[in-house]
Amino acid sequence: PLDPTNGGRPRLLLMGLRRAGKSSILRVVFHKMSPNETLFLESTSKVFRTDVFSFIDFEVWDFPGTTDPRDETWDPESVFRRTGALVFIIDAQDDYSEALSLLYSTVEAAYHVNPRISFEVFVHKADGLSDDMKVETQRDIQHRITEELIDAGLDTVHVSFYLTSIYDRSVFEALSKVMQKLVKELPTLENLLNILCSTSAVEKAFLFDVLSKIYIATDSSPYDLQTYELCSDMIDVVIDIGAIYSASRAPTSTLPRTSTAVARSSGLSQRYQVGHKGGLWGHEQGVANAGTDRSGEKEDGDESRMYDEEGQAVIRLNNGTILYLRQVDRHLALVALIREDSFERQGLVDFNFRVFREAVVEVFTKDQDDTAVQSRRTAV
Ligand code: GDP
Repeated sequence: PLDPTNGGRPRLLLMGLRRAGKSSILRVVFHKMSPNETLFLESTSKVFRTDVFSFIDFEVWDFPGTTDPRDETWDPESVFRRTGALVFIIDAQDDYSEALSLLYSTVEAAYHVNPRISFEVFVHKADGLSDDMKVETQRDIQHRITEELIDAGLDTVHVSFYLTSIYDRSVFEALSKVMQKLVKELPTLENLLNILCSTSAVEKAFLFDVLSKIYIATDSSPYDLQTYELCSDMIDVVIDIGAIYSASRAPTSTLPRTSTAVARSSGLSQRYQVGHKGGLWGHEQGVANAGTDRSGEKEDGDESRMYDEEGQAVIRLNNGTILYLRQVDRHLALVALIREDSFERQGLVDFNFRVFREAVVEVFTKDQDDTAVQSRRTAV
């Protein structure tokens, strides 16, 4: 059943026509499904609710495409009342007229119930369009929606647009932007990251939610998608190495506490040094546990032990850049890009990171229930 109070958590709704790509986004972002596997996903036929218990708890509602907000089988009041963001997915490779008309009626219904919702439109499956078509399609959709809203007297409604695809990081990037609007601590976190960057000569720093690789804050220096990709790839690298050396998977306890692996590929020399108690260990188990509810976590002592703030990794790229990852708590990790010469005094960076971590933990302590990363799928 719908929980109109939502426990004070921000709720993120994912809506759109059937086959728009909603389930694929959920699977790729939260369940580490590879984009190609989504080809075999069955289309959503019921309203599904996925609770993601991460650094901040949020809910994703996956509506089957045919659901119309005026349909009386569900009540817009209870759905939209506590919604923070409504993400509407449009298949940009298809004729989107029908999607647009569903979008108008949804925005209208939602705005009527709760004018504070942020409306986000993902112009999705952008990978199939040429660069020109991407721009043209987004512009066309944007234009038609704006016109329609003005005609309906809803000119105060603000809608944001993103070109997305599950085949690259654009969908993570877009969800990061959406999530950041819901994180009320954002200005404080950005400030802390700025301080960390200036005191430690860090070029760029992201605070990631490890489960989804959504970043919830970054410092204010400019960056490109490639930098973000590099940093989020680092989380995957650490998770993969973690999965190999995870204490819980090892048949005996004779594995060394710290493992070092050297990998060479296409001229890129990387040195991974991973604290064996690393907070990222067992991440996969956390995801695989989807389907259980919060209470499951308490029983799984092993898993919760894997998420601790000792997790860290340093990767040296052969272009003089260091990738520096430190776990902040069980859900959040800092990934920073540092020039090699600035990293000579690693002790200083480590020290500043510890101060940063204390401040972040303090920011979240008041309203964070420190539960393990899990998700629950509930048919409504
Ligand atoms: P839903 O009914 O909205 O949940 O849609 P699905 O998630 O089942 O996706 C429908 C189809 O779209 C699947 O075959 C996916 O592989 C495909 N799809 C989803 N996202 C993308 C994307 O970003 N690019 C491309 N090319 N195909 C996608």
